[in-house]
Amino acid sequence: MSATTGGFVCAHHHLYSALARGMPAPPAVPHDFLSVLQQIWWRLDAALDLEIIHWSAALGAAEAVLSGTTAIIDHHESPMAIEGSLDAIAAGCALVGLRVIPSYGVTDRWSDAGVLTDVKQSDKMTAGARRGLAECERYLASGRRAMVGLHATFTCTSETLDAAADLARRFGVGVHVHVSEGPDDAGAATRLAHLADENWLLVHCVGLDSDLPGTIVHNPRSNMNNDVGYAQPTRFGNRVVLGTDGIGADMAEEFRLAFVAGRDHVLTFSPDTAYSWLANGWDLVPEARNDVVTWNYDHMDSAWHLAFTPGTRPLDVVIEGRQIVKDAQPVTFDLEEIRRKAAEQAVRLHERLAA
Ligand SMILES: [Zn+2]
Repeated sequence: MSATTGGFVCAHHHLYSALARGMPAPPAVPHDFLSVLQQIWWRLDAALDLEIIHWSAALGAAEAVLSGTTAIIDHHESPMAIEGSLDAIAAGCALVGLRVIPSYGVTDRWSDAGVLTDVKQSDKMTAGARRGLAECERYLASGRRAMVGLHATFTCTSETLDAAADLARRFGVGVHVHVSEGPDDAGAATRLAHLADENWLLVHCVGLDSDLPGTIVHNPRSNMNNDVGYAQPTRFGNRVVLGTDGIGADMAEEFRLAFVAGRDHVLTFSPDTAYSWLANGWDLVPEARNDVVTWNYDHMDSAWHLAFTPGTRPLDVVIEGRQIVKDAQPVTFDLEEIRRKAAEQAVRLHERLAA
């Protein structure tokens, strides 16, 4: 029985989506996975600039640390503001004192003429993909921890998939990629089979139909929100970790959702399994295990208690010996200022989306 844990790890986030809340309704109501991307996320990411990205990251980082999460593995896309975008995210997280492992999610879905297009495997790499790879390389070359991001195979040419895998190999890091989240990405396993490695992060894997090396990131709330089905991560022998896919970074809450989603699939699903996914995050960011989070609940180390106890909150958060949160209040950052600046940027972002 313990009220203390290490800092939780969110293994798949999109900090840029923190300001999506309250965005104007899209021109058409999304009716399937692809139209969710087209109507919501691909309009949102094209409206981002570095100022919006910075304050979105700061707000997302503040909310994360106030939820007991001390490390975020982020996947970012901003096709109209690629250069410097990973620095904007890192700076936003640094304001709060949170660890972030960013990646730029490379894609060929924007043609060189700047319009959204269907991507064929055999097409040539676009300028946008080249710039995305360069942003990953620039950040990695600065010596900071990062990954190489890929959006998903169905929006990438084979040339781009090869180049991303090669860049990651050269820096000794993994590729962070959405895999078979929805039916449009059904061919992902075939296209990644000769490229994937043990240090890759394979996000979602809802429709994955054969083994790939890497860690599977399960995002139960996002999968339910997008009506893509249950990923059933225990189908494979891979290590499984938990992510939020951009909907906050409350990992105790995501654990409870992972548990209940598993139970909804089969009654024998154990909270111990979902808890092991939460704890596996420390394999990816080992130093977060040494952070100290003290909670308002004294069975945080018991899967069977936590699964049935909504509303657990951290009281104190210490990252690498530095107290970030005390008595549930931030001590190293000004939460009101971050909220105010983020709200200003949300207004700008939503005006662009309404235009
Ligand atoms: Zn995602």
